[in-house]
Amino acid sequence: METTLAAELAEDAAERLLRYVRIDTRSDEESDTYPSTEGQLELLRLLRDELEEVGLADVTMDEHGYVTGTLPATVEHDVPTIALFAHVDTAREVSGAGVSPQRVRYEGGEIVLGDSGQVIRPGESPELENHVGHELITTDGTTLLGADDKAGILVHVAAIQSWLNTAGSLPVNVKILIEGEEEAGSGSLGDFLRKHRQMLQADAIVLTDTGNFETGLPSITTALRGIVVVNVEVKALKQPVHSGMWGGPVPDAAMALSRILARLVNDDGSIAIPGLYDKVKPLSDSERKSIKALPSDETLFRKQAGMLEGVELLGGRHPWEMNWRQPSIAVNAIQASSRKDARNIIVDSAWARIGIRTVPDMDPKDVEKRLIDALQKNPPWGVKVDVHKEGAGSWWYTSSDAPAFKAAFKALRDGYGAEPVTIGCGGSIPFVDPFSKELGGVPALLIGVEDPYTNAHSENESLHLGDFAKATKSAIRLYAELVRVGERA
Ligand SMILES: [Zn+2]
Repeated sequence: METTLAAELAEDAAERLLRYVRIDTRSDEESDTYPSTEGQLELLRLLRDELEEVGLADVTMDEHGYVTGTLPATVEHDVPTIALFAHVDTAREVSGAGVSPQRVRYEGGEIVLGDSGQVIRPGESPELENHVGHELITTDGTTLLGADDKAGILVHVAAIQSWLNTAGSLPVNVKILIEGEEEAGSGSLGDFLRKHRQMLQADAIVLTDTGNFETGLPSITTALRGIVVVNVEVKALKQPVHSGMWGGPVPDAAMALSRILARLVNDDGSIAIPGLYDKVKPLSDSERKSIKALPSDETLFRKQAGMLEGVELLGGRHPWEMNWRQPSIAVNAIQASSRKDARNIIVDSAWARIGIRTVPDMDPKDVEKRLIDALQKNPPWGVKVDVHKEGAGSWWYTSSDAPAFKAAFKALRDGYGAEPVTIGCGGSIPFVDPFSKELGGVPALLIGVEDPYTNAHSENESLHLGDFAKATKSAIRLYAELVRVGERA
């Protein structure tokens, strides 16, 4: 009965998703408003109205488009309160205009994405073979889909609807918050949470914006990396000069920058900044065991990352341990003249953007300072080195000991018919930290509907409808399980 219902609701949600994704909610970098576009407000207004229709009370939308609603349980005794969260905005990198979603029952072979000329080929996407016989929603190859995070919103709404349709009321108190600026860094979220802390106070938070480790494998994310970014510029001359006329006595800024960058790593690829690893929290035995138990190995990791043959994996640990729980450094961009302007000159300056991904328990400000010191220390040949800070966001980590996790594991096990796993994420989700901080460190359950082949933020984005139904079923189960474990802060 419950399964049929979840399937029906997921079907209804899938239809609604097709409508939501047609509203362009792409983030606009140039905009100085929150949220950044009118399209985001349009969808938020639609959601406000739909939440009211579903039966939520006190539905509001503020000037930044933050939509909230609550619905208390109608029982005499004390029950847990959960706060649900999701976002409407889509990534800025890829167009969200004119999204034309296609529902595909995958029968093998290539998936042709509309008339775009884009094709998902089994040879390039070996994971496709796992999807034979399954239904997907894809794009037409010209835009992203926006399942991140519109599918996440629908999981929440379907769970509430399911309880109201069958039981007539909720077993827990529910609060929901939907926003439109996640992809732009959730700039006003902190303020919003501070102002509405009372209203959003809950015993557990559920954020449906992460993914599963594998299709059909329910996963709870318990660690996110932070990021520290700086720009460095090396200057040696007032203007570029001819390498024949002046080369020899005059130092080359590009070479100086290369030497500075090369000093940042050891021969084995580890970061060579003194003290950088001092605060890195070691994995517990059970954490290391759970990474080892994941259906993954070096060969698969290399394939998924698209690494070329012969290129080495760094770190000497499980690649997912390296990605989730060890810091990493990357030169994101580098510029000294350009390929187009290349000629026989000594460049006057050279520039690079450098990012360090941080992990528990590193201090972002400390990492930033150490990185800047390392860049500025003993400049080769007396060149001028300027460093500008671009940003420092914190990592996030939670133990999974709280009873709310027990409830989530049970709900996911029932919903997916598979044993859930805990995973990390090498990237950052800026809203998670303010959430757990402002709401007093209550358990935060990061679960989601994406699988590794969802390819959020790309024209190849797709949603696996089977997993969408399973995620919906789990979300429905979660309320009952939270009551059972008696999760009260
Ligand atoms: Zn997202």
